[in-house]
Amino acid sequence: MDLTHLISSRSSSINGSGIRRVFEIGAKIPDRVDLSIGQPDFPVPEPIRAAAIRAIDAGRNGYPLTRGIPELREKLAHALAADVGWKTTELPGHADSNTGLFITSGTTGALMLASLALLDPGDEVIIPDPWFVLYPYMGTFANATAIKCSTYPDFRLTAERIEPLITPRTKMVVLNSPSNPAGVVSTEQECKELLDLCRRKKIILLSDEIYDEFTYADFRTQPSTSDPKKLRCPSPARFPGAEDTVLLVRGFGKTYGVTGWRLGYAAGPRKLIEEMVKLQQYLYVNAPHPLQVGVMEALDLDMSSYVAEYERRRSLVVDRLSPHTEVPTPGGAFYAFVKVPDRLGYPQHEAGEKFFQRCIQERVLIVPGRTFSQRDTHFRLSYATPIANLERGLDALVRVMKS
Ligand code: PMP
Repeated sequence: MDLTHLISSRSSSINGSGIRRVFEIGAKIPDRVDLSIGQPDFPVPEPIRAAAIRAIDAGRNGYPLTRGIPELREKLAHALAADVGWKTTELPGHADSNTGLFITSGTTGALMLASLALLDPGDEVIIPDPWFVLYPYMGTFANATAIKCSTYPDFRLTAERIEPLITPRTKMVVLNSPSNPAGVVSTEQECKELLDLCRRKKIILLSDEIYDEFTYADFRTQPSTSDPKKLRCPSPARFPGAEDTVLLVRGFGKTYGVTGWRLGYAAGPRKLIEEMVKLQQYLYVNAPHPLQVGVMEALDLDMSSYVAEYERRRSLVVDRLSPHTEVPTPGGAFYAFVKVPDRLGYPQHEAGEKFFQRCIQERVLIVPGRTFSQRDTHFRLSYATPIANLERGLDALVRVMKS
């Protein structure tokens, strides 16, 4: 039977991820250097693995509470109170707080639930261009519209760029810092101005901070709430009273190398969190039970040596490529969004794709900019790969850029 007439227009309008296409093309190339992958290349720290295995052996395999196991929620509540100063319902003695917190099925789970809880057909969510590949579909899944805010050429999402795009149908703005695909870290001032704008317009500021731990020294400029000496990635959540406007979304996958475990969390206005928990009951049901026990260990780990290693690789990428093209310095995550040099003469609307094809001849995989953007003038490279691999890949990219 031809099913075309049965498939929903929603599903038909969604393209398979461009990153998967790169993956499939790459699988056929022997001895390739893969700079396309967006996941950490270090092994999962032993205490996390051991705790998850113990939890499975101890029989913690059934349904937990939809909102997550109480001991992880309480631990996160303490961590959030220390970091951003929020007193969530999960913090002992604050059950009547107006700020909620729950465990989601990956960061993706939080993003999807936020869209479904907030957006009606015809509503709008403003997302950065370039974007993380799910963001445009946060509109589609809810029969709403994602409005793309161009952040070229510096990839900074500013209140000035957002404000003209706000309409009576806007319900939410998505900020992602450090960002995928550019690694750009917002300044405190940018965070504050976005928060003020969203508060004034009475809309939600969703802050996707999945890469927050992977912020490099020079870009850690905002003190954590509890310890002025502990500098963190700037966040709109840290300004007084932000918890009535900011939906804070963070994940475990990237920070601890457990992307396959599907674990994240969301905190923010209690009314919104309760709606999201209600939807989670039916959609994701819960985040994986024994793995929630595993990541309890994560919050006690010091990941700074891993971050320092990525910072070293970041500097290598910038040093090697910036003599040949524009590379806005990544302040975090493990990506750079690099301009395809004009001198190659590729047409602007497909420069990323042409560059990608040329790199394949050199057996190097990158991702064309069109995967993340309305434009195709750039490409994303991931430096979540051992340094020898990265060196080889950069040599090839420079060769192509100079060709
Ligand atoms: N947000 C951003 C910015 C991401 O880059 C990713 C994953 N690449 C996600 C969310 C989704 O992460 P998770 O695997 O936790 O669902």
